[in-house]
Amino acid sequence: MTKQLSLPKTPRSNGFYIDGTWNAGIDHARLERISPGHGVPVSSVALCTVEDTDRAVAAARRAFENVWGDMPGAERGRILIKAAEGIRLRLEEMAYWETLETGKPISQSRAEIGGAADHYEAAAGMARMVTGETHNGYGEAMLGLVTRQPIGVVALITPWNFPFIVLAERMPFVLAAGCTVVLKPSEMTSTTSLIFADILAEAGLPSGVYNVVTGMGPEVGEALSNHDDVDMISFTGSLAVGERVLMASKSNLKKVGLELGGKNPQIVFADANLDDAADGVAFGVCFNAGQCCVSGSRLIVEASVAEAFCAKVMEKLARVRVGDPLDPDTQMGAIVSPEHHNKILGYIERGQAEGAKLECGGHAVDLDGGRFIAPTLFSGVTPQMAIAKDEIFGPVLSVIPFETAEEAVQIANDTEFGLAASVWSKNIDTALGVIRKIRAGRCWVNTTIVGGPEQPMGGFKRSGSGRECGMLGVEEYMEVKSIHIALGDRDHWLA
Ligand code: NAD
Repeated sequence: MTKQLSLPKTPRSNGFYIDGTWNAGIDHARLERISPGHGVPVSSVALCTVEDTDRAVAAARRAFENVWGDMPGAERGRILIKAAEGIRLRLEEMAYWETLETGKPISQSRAEIGGAADHYEAAAGMARMVTGETHNGYGEAMLGLVTRQPIGVVALITPWNFPFIVLAERMPFVLAAGCTVVLKPSEMTSTTSLIFADILAEAGLPSGVYNVVTGMGPEVGEALSNHDDVDMISFTGSLAVGERVLMASKSNLKKVGLELGGKNPQIVFADANLDDAADGVAFGVCFNAGQCCVSGSRLIVEASVAEAFCAKVMEKLARVRVGDPLDPDTQMGAIVSPEHHNKILGYIERGQAEGAKLECGGHAVDLDGGRFIAPTLFSGVTPQMAIAKDEIFGPVLSVIPFETAEEAVQIANDTEFGLAASVWSKNIDTALGVIRKIRAGRCWVNTTIVGGPEQPMGGFKRSGSGRECGMLGVEEYMEVKSIHIALGDRDHWLA
């Protein structure tokens, strides 16, 4: 039996972490975090400065040069395994803070923290598996090698919607590659990334390999993006901020990885198992209250079954348990901030103003000081409407019918984004034929929003560049070196 969770008696005061040392941040300005699900203050973070950021980068550089960059992969892997064990030991504590700061259901936080541990375990093996190429076809006098080596100091900037699992989709692969890290977590959801500093230290991670500077994007994030001693920046967040990071990165032409937004299609054919598909579609738009980069926010459904299928989806949406994120039975939690709440409600108004039909939901749900929005479905949506084009980042589903598979593909690809897509059909030719033509980095057939550390993820088009997870996710953080080795005596140029 899980014990009933309650709110903290006093808000947690977070420090920040540079070169293996905590700074309580008492001389810093601070930002308070109000729990989205309860409307009360639960934590605060220090607003770090450009000087703090410089010190963190310098510590990461020293650790890279002196200890981490040349450590054998097997030794790095052993530390990653211990980190996974440490995460599991503190899973309950971390899930609690993740839920208080994000508003996501506690059951989901527990699954995400456990899933994060899996990523550290998987990457531990990959740390030993970095390979290159040999070229043995030049004849007797030449051998060619292609080797990989860590790129150096990596700055990670992460969003609020999946604070610890997004970090886990990057960090262990960065560490496996032999790079050191300066992290700037979202100012709203920094606690789990900070707790993790202690877990890593206990796992034996040398000082300076993982540094966390908390605070605001325009200060700390910008300072990292244009820092001359950062070798690579990996940014996860919105398209608008991603563009700023890309512009700032030109200071030293650092490598940039971008994981941005999505407007992801759920394509449902008449020959699908419609009950399964309805469940997947409901889950895909309600997971994390729709505040999910791979949220299935466009339902593209074969016209012959559109009405019956929408009825099935709405029957599911009506039963989603929305409520207190600390309640283990809750399935959909709160909206992250008042601004975002208003933005979602604004899109719902705009959808109606542009002529779409609100079939269900469309309103705020008032529950004990928290901010919630009822699962919402719009029919009569045309591809030109804002609710069909923009990443709303809330539990809002726009339904667009299609007649042919070609039309379904055309509608699905008619977006500036290319992050994810799902196809539902029991006909393998239809399902694979369509998925092959979809321009998106993560695709699912007869399921949605599943995955793990083994396979790479990332976006096409304006959803970003680069890949995270899997061996590609390790190689992402490495430079490639080409070596030609002459054998035997030289054939002289000046004989
Ligand atoms: P955001 O872009 O507002 O913020 C992301 C991070 O950037 C935060 O840490 C923020 O403080 C920082 N930041 C803000 N201004 C900055 C600046 N000028 N320079 C550098 N950093 C700056 O995004 P968000 O609202 O936290 O997250 C939601 C967005 O993230 C959505 O668009 C979602 O699709 C996307 N996302 C993508 C993925 C993915 O893997 N593709 C995963 C999760 C979230």
